Amino acid sequence: MLLTADVRSKKYGILNSLHPSYKTAAETALNLWSKYLTARNVVEKIGEWTRDTTLCSSKQGNGFDCGVFVAMQSEAIAHGQDPCVIRQEHCCLYRRYIYQRIIHESKRQETTCNAMDCTRPTDDRIQWVQCDNCTGWFHMLCMRINKAPDGPFYCHNCHSRRRC
Ligand SMILES: [Zn+2]
Ligand SMILES: [Zn+2]
Repeated sequence: MLLTADVRSKKYGILNSLHPSYKTAAETALNLWSKYLTARNVVEKIGEWTRDTTLCSSKQGNGFDCGVFVAMQSEAIAHGQDPCVIRQEHCCLYRRYIYQRIIHESKRQETTCNAMDCTRPTDDRIQWVQCDNCTGWFHMLCMRINKAPDGPFYCHNCHSRRRC
């Protein structure tokens, strides 16, 4: 189950992939959120919060994919996507995606980046930047930039494709 909280609008959401319409679990989650606010010394009444009913969950098809659902739904919400699009059949692919991301992150200190003409910089010349389109990691040196971009960054490959 995923509890979301939009602090600005004081809206919380409850996404329960095991029992999408199970009210008791929703109340439990709200109690936990209330305890969290108290523990953080937030002087705020939980009664001021309203439930964001636009956030919903589809039903998972087994008893062990809860964590995968929570990760997928969190990522969907963080990217402004409707978490309802997440379905059981996505779990297998997403597990593989997470596995590849972990492996990829662990290799980030290796000398080669995703640039076709990687210059293999060494030691303190290694600074990384991630493409907002293909999510590939690149040496800033290979992208011929010397500071992290303020806005979105597109690698040479994605940049030239976007212009077509
Ligand atoms: Zn490189
Ligand atoms: Zn790219």
